[in-house]
Amino acid sequence: MIREATFVKSSSKLEECPKTGLPEYVFLGRSNVGKSSLINMLVERNKLSKTSSKPGKTQLINHFIINQKLFFVDLPGYGWAKTSKKNRESWDKMTKNYLLNSDKIALIFILIDIRLKPQEIDIDYINYLGKNKLPVNLIFTKADKIKKSEIDKRIDEFTSSLSQYWSSIPNYFISSSLKKIGKKEIIKYIFEINENLVK
Ligand code: GDP
Repeated sequence: MIREATFVKSSSKLEECPKTGLPEYVFLGRSNVGKSSLINMLVERNKLSKTSSKPGKTQLINHFIINQKLFFVDLPGYGWAKTSKKNRESWDKMTKNYLLNSDKIALIFILIDIRLKPQEIDIDYINYLGKNKLPVNLIFTKADKIKKSEIDKRIDEFTSSLSQYWSSIPNYFISSSLKKIGKKEIIKYIFEINENLVK
């Protein structure tokens, strides 16, 4: 279904982002959660989104145009243990400014490593988005790394740690870039939302 995926630009702040007005689907998560791999899986390209970018590098908002209809937005990952306070603060300022003030955001996907116990940094971030009434979906990544029987347990554990800011639990997907799990469902969902937006 994705015929065309092209890198458009990297922006250091909201004001520099493309102004074509197309809906934006944002991908966000802790560093190493598998965000680049997921984006590459969705668009069937190996290197559209660079994997394993190092901490401390310039933090940029990356726009990719999909089928001339919508943007995928790749935000820098959060949660590097070793990053400086200054880096963390500039990440926070940049991403929050973009998320709160871009009027093009159709949906924000927060990526969660399905292997881990609920991480405070993820929960806090998701609750922050909920409090600000932003549309959030979750994508649990690296599902190939745990047993099938563990998956539901992990998801229950995670979703029950979300706060009262959510009137219902955000919609979620299960993915593995390695095994190409979740690709069809995520793309279908994005295109469905997008069709409804342009109607
Ligand atoms: P990012 O920092 O969030 O962009 O994460 P990357 O996409 O660079 O992935 C971080 C590491 O996790 C890399 O070593 C990937 O090969 C690995 N990884 C990413 N997705 C998967 C997955 O679905 N399954 C497995 N087993 N490993 C993955």
